[in-house]
Amino acid sequence: MYRTHYSSQITEELHGKKVKVAGWVYEVKDLGGIKFLWLRDREGIVQITAPKKKVNEEVFALIPKLNSEDVIAVEGVVNFTPKAKLGFEIIPEKIEILSRADSPLPLDPTGKVKAELDTRLDNRFMDLRRPEVMAIFKIRSSVFKAVRDFFYQEGFIEIHTPKIIATATEGGTELFPMKYFERDAFLAQSPQLYKQIMMASGLDRVFEIAPIFRAEEHNTTRHLNEAWSIDAEMAFIESEDEVMGLLERLVAHAINYVREHNEKELKILDLELEEPKLPFRRITYTQALEILKDLGKEIPWGEDIDTEGEKMLGQYIKETYDEDLYFIYQYPSEAKPFYIMKYDDKPEISRAFDLEYRGVEITSGGQREHRYEKLKEQIAEKGLKVESFEFYLKAFRYGMPPHGGFGLGAERLLKQMLNLNNIREVILFPRDRKRLEP
Ligand code: ATP
Ligand code: MG
Repeated sequence: MYRTHYSSQITEELHGKKVKVAGWVYEVKDLGGIKFLWLRDREGIVQITAPKKKVNEEVFALIPKLNSEDVIAVEGVVNFTPKAKLGFEIIPEKIEILSRADSPLPLDPTGKVKAELDTRLDNRFMDLRRPEVMAIFKIRSSVFKAVRDFFYQEGFIEIHTPKIIATATEGGTELFPMKYFERDAFLAQSPQLYKQIMMASGLDRVFEIAPIFRAEEHNTTRHLNEAWSIDAEMAFIESEDEVMGLLERLVAHAINYVREHNEKELKILDLELEEPKLPFRRITYTQALEILKDLGKEIPWGEDIDTEGEKMLGQYIKETYDEDLYFIYQYPSEAKPFYIMKYDDKPEISRAFDLEYRGVEITSGGQREHRYEKLKEQIAEKGLKVESFEFYLKAFRYGMPPHGGFGLGAERLLKQMLNLNNIREVILFPRDRKRLEP
């Protein structure tokens, strides 16, 4: 075992005791009679102090030969002293080089030399050696854990649906075509139809956390071509409001989990994450258009609220109510996909909602149309071929309970939560219009 403790695990009780630490060479300082070495591991940095009189010759001679980012293992004695910057140091007895680092480095892992996002992504392994970048991915891990925990607590069953599919979910143009032996297929843009089919199975409450693939042509700071979607679907609901209730508790749970478990990472990122107020504000689509009109932006009823409109609305909600998260609901049916239920008494309005986080959509959801005849009508209304949905429609003919659900974009949630300006910051190896490597 090369390591007995991470840097963060060295506490005062270990004073005078022997430990092994392992990691990357952060910095070396040679003051002649005393040599310093800072070693970085996942949890932080430790100082190794080598005064000539206290360490063996071999160790003393080795330190100046180390290069930045060499991987080393150090065995030594912990010494708590106010003289050390971090309050303690390790007096080394043995230093072993496990792997050498070439120079020059493709990136400066100390962050002192700023690099472009492209350079950082090309060298992601080294980019992650910067604590601010690593912090993002520790938080990402927490969010996924919190989401899973939440769903299990709420009685949801985790499912996994196919990512190679024959039919476009929504007949959209954002699909990646592929060859499937002799046939044409696509990468799944969403698990929508499959999670709905599961509502006819009796599983009742399901969730899936998986990638979605979208051939978004444009390069934006909030679209990826491969993103992670947190999907849920629940049966026996009486209205979309029950789905909104679940979603807001899920998002609040994820945020609070990060507040509790990632204090260190939030500090590194210089972020204060506020506890979200429940329930989230709900504004109807029509109200949203009215607010926008007052702000000087007119959107004809029926059209989607564009990026600029979303942003203006986000600012307005923040300034007026000091809130970051809010729902827009009762969207026009024409702006939403065929599987969304319309209000029976007002078919121009649908039971669809979006959850917005500081002016960016992070989720779309709603109550679905579970009545076979109506669903068929809605497919045709959108100009889609009813026949190509037979595998899906079949599930609606033999007992389909009323149901609803949502798709929450994990990267959108993280980007907004951490106030980052580019979605590429929160995924290890982004897939975008240009990027297929690493
Ligand atoms: P937008 O209009 O913002 O492009 P959308 O309405 O097309 O998004 P949906 O089909 O509603 O997206 O997908 C559900 C959720 O999945 C979105 O709210 C978003 O959080 C996430 N999502 C969708 N497309 C992408 C993408 N290309 N990159 C990252 N996340 C995405
Ligand atoms: Mg949407």
